[in-house]
Amino acid sequence: MTRNSLNEARTKIVATVGPACEDEATLAEMIEHGVDVFRINAAHGTQADYERMRSKIVRAGEMAGFHVGILLDLAGPKIRLGKLFNDQPLDVEIGDQVTFVRGDTPSNDRELTSNYTRLIDELSLGDRVMLADGMISMQVVEKLKDSVRCEIAVKGTIRSKQGINLPGTSLSVSSMRPEDVDNALWAARNNIDFISLSFVRTAQDVLSLKNLLASMDASALVIAKIEKREALEELEAIVDAADGVMVARGDLGVEIDVADTPVAQKKIIRICREKLKPVIVATQMLESMHHNRRPTRAEASDVANAILDGADACMLSGETAIGDYPVLAVETMNRIMIRTEVLLKSQPVESKTRFSSRVHPVTSAVTHNAANIAEAIDAKLVVVVSHTGGTAWVKAKQRNYIPTLGVSDSDAVLRRMTLFWGIMPHHVENLENPEKLIEKVTQWGVARGMLVPGDRVVYVTGTGVLVNTHNLLVVHEVPPIKS
Ligand code: PEP
Repeated sequence: MTRNSLNEARTKIVATVGPACEDEATLAEMIEHGVDVFRINAAHGTQADYERMRSKIVRAGEMAGFHVGILLDLAGPKIRLGKLFNDQPLDVEIGDQVTFVRGDTPSNDRELTSNYTRLIDELSLGDRVMLADGMISMQVVEKLKDSVRCEIAVKGTIRSKQGINLPGTSLSVSSMRPEDVDNALWAARNNIDFISLSFVRTAQDVLSLKNLLASMDASALVIAKIEKREALEELEAIVDAADGVMVARGDLGVEIDVADTPVAQKKIIRICREKLKPVIVATQMLESMHHNRRPTRAEASDVANAILDGADACMLSGETAIGDYPVLAVETMNRIMIRTEVLLKSQPVESKTRFSSRVHPVTSAVTHNAANIAEAIDAKLVVVVSHTGGTAWVKAKQRNYIPTLGVSDSDAVLRRMTLFWGIMPHHVENLENPEKLIEKVTQWGVARGMLVPGDRVVYVTGTGVLVNTHNLLVVHEVPPIKS
């Protein structure tokens, strides 16, 4: 079985790799059911693990005949508990007290340590400390030179290495730990397509990673994860600096009041739309499918509403990494997307041409109007031809329902297109030969039942595809098939 483009959602699916899906056959099946990008979570494992996953993903892509993208998710300055006393979990009730101490060796079961050496200096009386994505909450009630005492407000079980969130506290921790730099360099050496950075607070955090990648001549796109209150305050500058954005709702829903996350999500998507940046909505999208074969109604609506807000991609995390039904979760998400996208069918092409610093203004204007022409002549396919992916980048943000093929002679560019809404990546050699290109695309469309004689196809070429032209827009009519 190979991937069937006719049964493919326009909204992209990012799926996290983990023990539940790590074999090549399962990864290939997930691609066939709609995965566009696999996420390797660098918060867990070593570079040997990432390399093992990377090579399996590449082989699964070959098995499925699809240019699947790979995203490495850098853990960033995530603060975690150290090991608990004797590495034993600790049940805490409301009103109990625990104490953060310096170093990494607690001397009794009520003492906690962390991987952030300045934690004790930077916490203040009254600050809230949350553990395990907000499942446990406590408040600082005493601050001494070498310890901070906290009182439990929401009970639970504290375990070694749980994540710590400090909503409302600004820390001086640097944006990338040495491990993040090392992992980014690994990603650059291994042609990883997307690198996301966790706990971004400023545009400078994003630029630091971009500079590091530029020094390695790496072309990976940098995705800023929005999961801190500070990032929401500097959102426009961060979106400008990044190549794409992830609404990382897991941590965001702890760092700000969970009641504020839907509005934050809509705001992030709106700004990404204005600035032509791809945006991924992540975390708990089909959460109940960890152990159930069907999602809840609320989860189906969550995926649908993200699409209607304007998300370019939705992400599966634990559902595919450790869940019982990784393939079914992908198939379900793809189905919800296809049914929802029908609502976009009657949506007119946006009247305004949007411009981006990444794409030449002529390309933006021509691509924008190609969609209008395609609508006006009832074209069955739009083909964007690009050396760099820029034309596909602009086209993706239009939410134009006519199927769109993103053609390139570069596999790296095709893998980037996996995050661009509505673009089906397709490899063609010799882009400079227009007749050959049209012949190849026509064969592809006819073989899939997407095109029949008489159908119109709109071609838009990117800058540099034809000598001395910025962009070229051509309408082709599929000729009668020679028998
Ligand atoms: C999130 O917090 O929603 C997220 C995607 O990041 P992580 O899975 O690294 O916590």
